[in-house]
Amino acid sequence: MFKFKAIGVSEGLAHAKALVIKEEDLTVVKDTITDVAAEQARVTDAVEKAKKQIEVLREEAEKNIGAAEAEIFDAHLLMIDDPDFIEGMTNLIDEDKVCAEYACFVNCENFQAMFRAMDDEYMQARAADIGDISKRILKNLKGIADNALDSITEPCIVIATDLTPSDTAKIGSKPVVGFVTRIGGRTSHSAIMARSMGIPAVAGAGDKVDEIEDGAELLLDGAAGEVVVAPDEATLAQFAEKKKAEDARKAMLAQFKDKQGGTSDGRRIVIEGNIGTPDDAVRVAELGGEGVGLFRSEFLFMDRADLPSEEEQYEAYKKACEIMAGKPVIIRTLDIGGDKEVPALELEKEQNPFLGYRAIRICLNKTDLFLTQLRALLRAAKYGDLRIMFPMISSIEEIRNAKQILEQAKDLLKAEGAEFNPDVKVGIMIEIPVAAVCADMLAKEVDFFSIGTNDLIQYSCAVDRINEKISYLYRPLHPGVLRLIGMTAKAANENGIEVGVCGEMAGTPGMAPVLCGLGVTNLSMSASAMLAAKADLAAHTYAECKELADKLVAASSATDAEAMFAEWRG
Ligand code: PEP
Ligand code: MG
Repeated sequence: MFKFKAIGVSEGLAHAKALVIKEEDLTVVKDTITDVAAEQARVTDAVEKAKKQIEVLREEAEKNIGAAEAEIFDAHLLMIDDPDFIEGMTNLIDEDKVCAEYACFVNCENFQAMFRAMDDEYMQARAADIGDISKRILKNLKGIADNALDSITEPCIVIATDLTPSDTAKIGSKPVVGFVTRIGGRTSHSAIMARSMGIPAVAGAGDKVDEIEDGAELLLDGAAGEVVVAPDEATLAQFAEKKKAEDARKAMLAQFKDKQGGTSDGRRIVIEGNIGTPDDAVRVAELGGEGVGLFRSEFLFMDRADLPSEEEQYEAYKKACEIMAGKPVIIRTLDIGGDKEVPALELEKEQNPFLGYRAIRICLNKTDLFLTQLRALLRAAKYGDLRIMFPMISSIEEIRNAKQILEQAKDLLKAEGAEFNPDVKVGIMIEIPVAAVCADMLAKEVDFFSIGTNDLIQYSCAVDRINEKISYLYRPLHPGVLRLIGMTAKAANENGIEVGVCGEMAGTPGMAPVLCGLGVTNLSMSASAMLAAKADLAAHTYAECKELADKLVAASSATDAEAMFAEWRG
């Protein structure tokens, strides 16, 4: 038996066998060959295998996700059948006497360059499909198995370097009871998705993941970030006790499901859920969420080769509104960049992606992309209390420009005679320190604020939110961070607008009273954290929350504030 601790990112206990997903080595070396025919036959085999894999994926996508998503694979099948594409590889082998892997790599580059040079934006986006197909062929040439997640049939705990959003989504339909990743932290997107699905997870385990053998028996505590490999009898017995206590706590929390959020003396705090797909709203509604405080719309754009159409977006936003049945649904416009990639946009790699061309900066530049989303939102707003939120705002100009494009979207819809709701509320995320400092001015421009503490902490403490080496510097209770939140809440309260927190801090155990004491009115978090937040608030009066917040804000360091908080929690 051995155990280790890493970052607990999604609470819950799991006991199952490990399923280790090996990292893929896709580096290509330019080897010279002599047997041209044999090398060309390797290409033919790899292509045939790829075709079969794509056909299976197509069927699964149609069954599990929908016909529209399955069409991506139809496009892949057409491309992989194109004689020019295959000859591109076999000719390179013949003419340059290079190995199949290298021919695949060069052919991919050639075709991608050709697609990128086309005038049509749709054709340019096909370069991402070429990349996908070529990667599949290369994996077949190198004998790397197709995604191990596809073949899961038994309960297991997945061990991987990291999981892409589509991997995490796949996990939702498999008997995966937990996962452990080498990289990442509480705010990496696989962690966020784990919490919204209620799957226990531990991240940032580093090299420890290499010590876990495939099939090993594991115990996982997602709250403590603890992993036990090959537990002995005594540890198994302790774990069973812990599980019993967890089940009892869950039963206690269930009483809060139909209660409104707020302190024991009636100060109202609205408790809402964060979602990445419309279907996530089902859990928010089931667990007593009073709305959706953050719909990360970018998840609709990720892990696919093309962009979602206005119609597809409209259906997704409408579905979320319908599931929430009249309760508020705050939909954040496209927030890509940083650790979130959208292949179809083919954004250049940047030195400092979190500080770069991202989110509202892209939308204000690519107005067609923005208009399509805004049109879909305005149309879907007929089906509920849909509110629009702009991310990464750093200035008044950005708000005004975004609102002007929103007006343009309304004018276009009106001219077309389309049905839509022109009276949507518009808010912004406060996640850049200057926005918090200038919140008194920004509050006059919008209907609500939502504080994105994941980024606010990252930017104010200058600590990359996904770099586990410096995660010790990522401190939500840093008095500087609390002051920024307090300033934002004060500005919102003075201007009569709602102020929420939708970063991970909102759902961190014990934080709800702190944020309430700082003046926040709404808290939005993973569905699995909502009941505990209601219970935390109901256990205190507003005066107690305020006294705690005042003390933490006045602390001389993050360490002092953390000690005070721990003592208060008992
Ligand atoms: C945040 O920054 O706190 C936030 C909610 O947005 P995201 O995590 O998607 O960047
Ligand atoms: Mg953010």
